[in-house]
Amino acid sequence: MNFLSLIESKREGKALAPDQIENFVREFTAGTIPDYQMAAMLMAIYFRGLTTAETTALTLAMRDSGDVLKFPKDKRPLVDKHSTGGIGDKVSLPLAPLLACLGFRVPMISGRGLGITGGTLDKLDSIPGFKTLLSAEKITAQVQKVGCVICGQTDRMVPADKKIYALRDASGTVPSIPLITASILSKKLAENLDALVLDVKFGCAAFMQIRTDARKLAKAMVALGNECGVNTRAILTDMNTPLGRAAGNWLEVKESVAVLEGSAAVPAAGSKFAGEAPALHLNDLRSLVLDCAAHLFVQTRKAKTFAAARKQAADCLNSDAPRRKWDEMLVAQGADLKAFNKKLAQDSTAPVVVELKAEKPGFVSKCDARLIGEVIRDLGGGRLTQESAINYDVGVDQIAKPGERVEKSEILCRIHATDSAQAKAAITRLKTAFEISARRPGKTSLVVEVIE
Ligand code: URA
Repeated sequence: MNFLSLIESKREGKALAPDQIENFVREFTAGTIPDYQMAAMLMAIYFRGLTTAETTALTLAMRDSGDVLKFPKDKRPLVDKHSTGGIGDKVSLPLAPLLACLGFRVPMISGRGLGITGGTLDKLDSIPGFKTLLSAEKITAQVQKVGCVICGQTDRMVPADKKIYALRDASGTVPSIPLITASILSKKLAENLDALVLDVKFGCAAFMQIRTDARKLAKAMVALGNECGVNTRAILTDMNTPLGRAAGNWLEVKESVAVLEGSAAVPAAGSKFAGEAPALHLNDLRSLVLDCAAHLFVQTRKAKTFAAARKQAADCLNSDAPRRKWDEMLVAQGADLKAFNKKLAQDSTAPVVVELKAEKPGFVSKCDARLIGEVIRDLGGGRLTQESAINYDVGVDQIAKPGERVEKSEILCRIHATDSAQAKAAITRLKTAFEISARRPGKTSLVVEVIE
């Protein structure tokens, strides 16, 4: 193969044939195409784009660069959710066991966080003993037995994406819709799914900050997923405000368990929601979990209407089955349940907890997810580079959300830090994350669009 002539064709805006794309993905993965030539191709794609047929060929070639999970025939559909990432986005954690209880199989292959965006695997790493590195055999066996697994990609899955993504990161070619589409979907297609729901976020803390860009990405991924035989839907969700009331690895696990405990989850003593109806304080997170489950119900034709599907999902979440399924998944992946429950009972696992209080009464009109994410990253809860070590215990919780009334001196959020100097610096920065106004701000929707 003359790769130089393919780079030149793409540079001139010509479409490549599927077999040309398959060949260069195979050769690059095998190491016979040098990085500098592949970087040139990625830059040509960045400027010239790819047609749908080219994107399909690239996605399938990347999927087939490694192992694809194989499952025995079973009446339970194989489903998953993918989020483009945001602050406090812990939906995967309660969703996987909920879906397993609803009669799905969930091979949830997840990633780590980078920058301000948290990663599901980092959150799970805060659970004593829990293992996220599993073999393909263990993944399939656990999905068949328990119904769900949340783990990392094996070394042999989608190696092309690992190499291409590293090169995109180093060559300024990450923000390309066809390259993002191929990267995300090649990994999801390697799970051999029947249906996939994509949570594409927009807003100040999202990968795609502008809603129209997020919509473009969502549409491209939905078209390609369906083209590749997986029933795919996307929801566009607002990521200007953190999801839920906690952000930071361990704090998010705690909040996920509270969602799984549904109507039994009592707001923490001392929080501004103490004494309030259980579960009310978790509304946006719980609602998004139920929406994702309901879409997958409709996509797999297990329910006729979205409303009926959502009710079924809510009834299940109100039972204790998903919470028990969570424990079953934890045990299957090596967690020490006794240590986990002991840790859950602690108000904080960080050495220092401080409160940021409202300086005046009014309505919260802004709660800046990006700034909160940056503060948590700088507290040690996120990564500046792929190699950075993570502090699982730091973060922010009891976050007051836009539209809520606060009185003077009431908590806007709590900061969990490693020492008081860090906590003080975080408080100073977080003061500007919140705005309080005399008038209640207009209601905003979390899910603004569904793309089928
Ligand atoms: N997430 C991915 O997995 N790939 C991308 O290209 C962007 C976000």
